[in-house]
Amino acid sequence: MRVNGELMERKLSHRACKEASKYIPGGVNSPVRSLKSVGGNPLFIERAKGVKLTDIDGNKYTDYCLSWGVFIQGHSHPDVTRAVKRAVANGTSYGIPCIAETGLAKKVNRCFPSMEKVRFVNSGTEAVMSAIRVARGYTGRNVIVKFDGCYHGHADHLLVSAGSGVAGLSGASSAGVPDNFVKYTISVPFNDRRAVEEIFSMRGEDIAAIIVEPVPANMGVVIPQEGYLQFLREIAARYGALLIFDEVITGFRLSSGGAQKFFGIEPDLTTLGKIVGGGFPAAAFGGKREIMDVLAPDGPVYQAGTLSGNPVAMAAGGAALDILSEAGFYSSLQNKCSEFYNELEYAVKGKDIRLNRIGSMFTLFFSKEEVIDFRTSAGSDDKRFAKFFRSMLKQGIYISPSRFEANFISSAHTNKHLENFVKAVRKSI
Ligand SMILES: *Cc1c(COP(=O)(O)O)cnc(C)c1O
Repeated sequence: MRVNGELMERKLSHRACKEASKYIPGGVNSPVRSLKSVGGNPLFIERAKGVKLTDIDGNKYTDYCLSWGVFIQGHSHPDVTRAVKRAVANGTSYGIPCIAETGLAKKVNRCFPSMEKVRFVNSGTEAVMSAIRVARGYTGRNVIVKFDGCYHGHADHLLVSAGSGVAGLSGASSAGVPDNFVKYTISVPFNDRRAVEEIFSMRGEDIAAIIVEPVPANMGVVIPQEGYLQFLREIAARYGALLIFDEVITGFRLSSGGAQKFFGIEPDLTTLGKIVGGGFPAAAFGGKREIMDVLAPDGPVYQAGTLSGNPVAMAAGGAALDILSEAGFYSSLQNKCSEFYNELEYAVKGKDIRLNRIGSMFTLFFSKEEVIDFRTSAGSDDKRFAKFFRSMLKQGIYISPSRFEANFISSAHTNKHLENFVKAVRKSI
């Protein structure tokens, strides 16, 4: 509700947060939602439709976070809702196989041919954890190479120089993670070839896998330099290590076949999340048949899940992927985005702001320096970002509430929405 053109105060959200905080740490079930790093209080949302969020005070926002990139087709798409309703009517979990699991696995395989076999889990964290275990089980090695500022979920052994919400904490890692649990995790700067070469020349025989967000989006969007992913592909192969693409964000985002199709690089293992669940808790990991066959019950690597592959999440994911497979989905999204980026680039020119963008995701860094890795991302101005976030919110636009996150555009955003975004940016800066 707008009063004299201003957004109403968020009284009810404020009250809801106080109440939530009595029972839930920080009042939130995932830290970045608290809006702490941008000096705000969390919004409590009542409903979401298309690109619009409505909070419990009745304020409406155009959403550029989209549940962290999940809703590439917009919130509550009618096809997804219909599929979910139909599935729910037949029960919500069996703990016994259902055909919908194979259906979704086939769709994933069609889009990601490198995922010859796939297993569904309930979150991106779980997918990555499991993929790492598979890599270790398959290679008989322990060491994992990751990149500073890449986020791979909140499993102990991956909270080393991690991005996303962890990047906003004062320590690089998390308390509660014993040093011994991360002694096999080595983190190096992204886009740095020499650092990777050095690690391999020292410990090549012990390295089970390189895990990378092929386009990092959890330190803000960072673009891989020409040939960098190919370099990772080659060095992993040369030393008998696996290459894992964590495509929890980029999968079904950069193209129907994720970053691997976009850049033409075939990883050994892939993790998917966010979009693949159609807004439900589903994620996936998969790869070459020979590698995935180390999993129980056929092989010695254990992995399991009570609600994994449940029929509702499978139906939601399947319906979401069907929308994306419609002819022209990605090209029309890309055209819309390209035009928008031109306008946005022009609006921020000369303001010490960097626009990093690819496909339908982008980040504005408040920085003089080009952002190519975690060091340069962390060098951006957090106070300016916080002010920018609050100003955008005041103008009815919800961007991802951290300078270490990406913003997302969906097929539900119209040119008009995007024009308004640029106008709001002009006003904010
Ligand atoms: C979001 C994310 C994860 C973790 O997924 P959850 O579903 O939040 O556990 C892992 N990797 C990447 C690249 C992500 O963006």
